[in-house]
Amino acid sequence: MLKVCKFGGTSMADKNAIERAINIVKNDPSRRFVVVSAPGKRFSGDEKVTDLLYKSFKERYDDRHPSFDKVRQRFCGIADELGVKTNIGKYLDEIEENIEKSQTSDYAASRGEYLMAILFADKLGWEFVDAAEMVKFDAKGRFDSESTNDFVSQRLKNADNAVISGFYGSMPDGSIKTFSRGGSDITGAIIARGVKADIYENWTDVNGFMTADPKIVKSPKPIEILSYEELRELSYMGASVLHPESIFPLRGSNIPINIRNTFEPENKGTTIMVDCDYRHRNGRLVTGIAGKPDYTAILIKKSMMNNELGFVRKTLSVLENYNIQVEHIPTGIDTMSIILESNQMDKETLHKAVEEIRAKVSPDDIQINEKLAMIAIVGHGMAEKIGTAARVFNALYRSKVNVKMIDQGSSEMNIIVGVANEDLNKSIAALYDEFFN
Ligand code: ASP
Repeated sequence: MLKVCKFGGTSMADKNAIERAINIVKNDPSRRFVVVSAPGKRFSGDEKVTDLLYKSFKERYDDRHPSFDKVRQRFCGIADELGVKTNIGKYLDEIEENIEKSQTSDYAASRGEYLMAILFADKLGWEFVDAAEMVKFDAKGRFDSESTNDFVSQRLKNADNAVISGFYGSMPDGSIKTFSRGGSDITGAIIARGVKADIYENWTDVNGFMTADPKIVKSPKPIEILSYEELRELSYMGASVLHPESIFPLRGSNIPINIRNTFEPENKGTTIMVDCDYRHRNGRLVTGIAGKPDYTAILIKKSMMNNELGFVRKTLSVLENYNIQVEHIPTGIDTMSIILESNQMDKETLHKAVEEIRAKVSPDDIQINEKLAMIAIVGHGMAEKIGTAARVFNALYRSKVNVKMIDQGSSEMNIIVGVANEDLNKSIAALYDEFFN
């Protein structure tokens, strides 16, 4: 058995958390490769090391570097409390100098993971492996998954153990490039694939995925088993336990991801499987419910729309020209709604695009509907049972929620409904009651 573990920022936040992580690793000899994040928040209102590093980059030409001073304090404190041998001050001096010389913020941002991995490796007495040696991006900054996989398997082939820094890799010229925020989850998946792990354990500060957002529903039931596809749908819709791109390196390799809680290690958490068939689902209908506010709908009406060749293409090409991304396109016979994330464009751009659509396809009516929330009801179980949609709409009807849009994915594993922003929480609570209570 071979396990790759990734510990998130809260698991690296202070001595107590780090020692918990050390114990978890030591408790199981099959946990041979560990990926770490930068120290996160210790308490609400605290600053994450990564945020401080982004600020340090902005302050790089100033006389004083107050954010870097805070980073220095954090790491010196951690090194001291852990009682490690590493001369952390030397590393910090070098980094402070390099930040002053850097062109982009990536180098600065990545140093939290770099330093944390060095300290964690020291404490465990394991080898530290810099992610820059293995995780590769091309000259355009796109992640190069195949050469990365070769580098990882070569580099770690003969290693018994290693601690690897999360979140970043390197470009062909050797400069540092990071993934998007939360990207250490992706590094963990990359390492798991490269060493052909039996399982990728992602240690965080919650007991895995819940059937609904705990901020909306009080103590929602946990999701024990989730498929890769269900995970995609739920995290896309705002369930933010794992970076949504983490599954890409693992697709095709059949490695399950187990989300675990560093602060409650006996909890089994959520296991995400590629092949999650009906045997694992215990006959459940809905796996989880998630939702996000702030979408905009463009509602287009034109009689005989369905007979007009190229209508959809012409409409969408306008949005493409304005660089506006489309999320869903539910259609009727003579109507089409185009759902967009509101924060990607300003009002003026949207209005210009709508005017251009009007000129191009001459609709009978075109309107903009803002402040929409989208809710996804997700589960493979729905494909096998009738009546799920009826239950969704009944639950919303009973709570007096007006459904403004409906979309069902082709795989019948999700129903998406659009409601007014202010009905979002009420709707999720009603749907949770219907399917889980
Ligand atoms: N430390 C980085 C961030 O805060 C990456 C990570 O934690 O995964 O986004």
